[in-house]
Amino acid sequence: MNLRPPVEKNDDIELTITALSSEGQGIGRIDGYTVFVPYALAGEKIRAHVIKVTSGYAVAKLTEILEKSAERTENTCPVYPRCGGCTLRHLAYHAQLEAKTRQVQDALIRLGKFDSPVVLPCIGMGEPERYRNKGSFPMGYDENFKVVPGFFAQRSHRIVPIEDCAIQSSAVMAVTAAVAEWANMYSIPVYDETTHKGILRHAMARTSADGVLALVVTSGKLPHSDALVELLRHKIPNLTGVVHNVNSKDTNVILGDKFIALWGSDRLNTTIAGHSFSASMASFLQVNPVQTEVLYSKALEFLSLKGGERVADVYCGIGTITLMLAEHADHVTGIECVPAAIADAKVNAKNNGISNVDFICDTAESVLPMLVSEGLHLDAAVIDPPRKGCEKTALDALADSGVQRIVYVSCNPATMARDCRILADRGYTLVKAQPVDMFPHTHHVETVALLTK
Ligand code: SAH
Repeated sequence: MNLRPPVEKNDDIELTITALSSEGQGIGRIDGYTVFVPYALAGEKIRAHVIKVTSGYAVAKLTEILEKSAERTENTCPVYPRCGGCTLRHLAYHAQLEAKTRQVQDALIRLGKFDSPVVLPCIGMGEPERYRNKGSFPMGYDENFKVVPGFFAQRSHRIVPIEDCAIQSSAVMAVTAAVAEWANMYSIPVYDETTHKGILRHAMARTSADGVLALVVTSGKLPHSDALVELLRHKIPNLTGVVHNVNSKDTNVILGDKFIALWGSDRLNTTIAGHSFSASMASFLQVNPVQTEVLYSKALEFLSLKGGERVADVYCGIGTITLMLAEHADHVTGIECVPAAIADAKVNAKNNGISNVDFICDTAESVLPMLVSEGLHLDAAVIDPPRKGCEKTALDALADSGVQRIVYVSCNPATMARDCRILADRGYTLVKAQPVDMFPHTHHVETVALLTK
């Protein structure tokens, strides 16, 4: 069969967009052949320039909108669409939520092979801007050789200056601006990834109702650190700490292993679901605190704990969900593979006076089979894996534990659908899935799904 694509690279085409992909791109078809057009919306007639052609699909760059969707909105962010982060900012917020509900539904039907899954409407934010509580910006030079915070241009290591980011906390942006100001005052050279020369790599910050924790990443020694602390304290009134991280490696991982507290605390306190948590810059915390409360309360509601249950919180991070569940269960075991997160989780449990929990530091796929072979019986479990989902051995062990209710919290509908199918084949029913918009203006969606035996 010789199926020649109906378009060639550098063609200029006219196209009607009929749907949105799971990555937020417009999808149009020419004789059944798929063309992806980022920033185009369903219902729009557009012109586009073909930039990539494969046997299965093409990608084209939007050049002109001939017929505009009624759901297209005005942009309010200075770096959209250059930064590539907000893949749906041009779509009205209510329509973003509808698209995310459909995305979860499609994944469960196409990848999970569920006939008619119950997917509740995606829960959105009242104020879907400035929601992020953490940010990290590489430092670079602008055209006048002034140090500026930026972002990496897509698929490259060229820095594009960022004046502001509409989904980021203002405090995070203020920290990055202050770090750039300090670097310009003292002529601190920016680290160059190709020559490995220079000092300043990233400016980072994490915020909560308690304050702001600032962090500066350098390739080695930090000169003029007193001046940096002074400037940050002056610019950020509710600053609680300044930390220096050393990353001397030639890598695109942001943080190195060495943290040095320069001023104040090297941790930030935050309250989640009624418990206080102390988080270091390195440990994982959900980035949207408003929607985290919504997400966690859905997880708790779906689990319907009566008080006497033996529960597992798998992929527990610093124990945020574990402590919430502990108030409603007999005992909760948190499982997580990052040692620093488990150390945090133990301290957090103690500080909140919660003793009906224990934490195990290892991968879910090695701990769960071991616990089950030792005779562990579980009544309920929350699983909240990273984007790649769960290993099958972890899911099989859960099924073997006799667990009656499983709440799957997921940031990736595709792997969630795959894993729910594995559980369905082991006798679980997918009762319902509730998408929650943790990442407004991007195509990302979080889901809480309930499976029962
Ligand atoms: N439930 C937590 C964390 C969710 S993020 C919260 O809501 O904050 C997923 C967590 O899984 C991360 O902390 C990550 O370190 C951990 N993780 C990743 N792979 C793992 C594995 N194979 N086994 C156990 N934990 C893992």
